[in-house]
Amino acid sequence: MRTVAILGRPNVGKSTLFNRMVGRRQALVHDLPGLTRDRLEGDGRLYDLTFRVVDTAGVEAGGEETLPGRLRQLTFEGLEEADIGLFLIDARAGVTPADQEIAEILRRSDKPVLLVANKCEGRAAIAGAAEAWSLGLGEPVWVSAEHGEGLVDLADMLRPLL
Ligand code: GDP
Ligand code: MG
Repeated sequence: MRTVAILGRPNVGKSTLFNRMVGRRQALVHDLPGLTRDRLEGDGRLYDLTFRVVDTAGVEAGGEETLPGRLRQLTFEGLEEADIGLFLIDARAGVTPADQEIAEILRRSDKPVLLVANKCEGRAAIAGAAEAWSLGLGEPVWVSAEHGEGLVDLADMLRPLL
């Protein structure tokens, strides 16, 4: 079974997406040993797709103040143990320097990475729409992890990678 790592700076909605994918089987979520203390892993599901999913929770420790080096380290480690990366950005906030730091790591990786622009529910203004392309990771999938929108598109992008 393939492992999908949810990556991104603090507050973009990683844990919200993780919880949605893990659903009621969240009981299987547990702390993994290793450098990233707070990493969570669970059985992920998205429509017909099943996969292991990892939430890089340790990155929350410093909030927006998380050091770029720490973000890079967690991103690197998260992807290292996964087959596929889901790189979340906050479309309402647009692309931040921390997003650019993470994108730099992900562009260098051989592993497939999907750019996911979160918080796109309803008629929300999408500040990150044009900027997202500047990350050099292709076209973003537009989703709302909280409201469950765009997840069919996410599944369509993920399916051939699993
Ligand atoms: P993480 O730090 O990346 O794990 O982000 P969280 O999952 O903890 O979410 C951070 C904040 O963003 C919380 O207040 C969530 O309720 C909010 N959030 C997550 N997903 C969405 C979304 O799709 N739309 C909106 N508007 N808010 C979201
Ligand atoms: Mg989190």
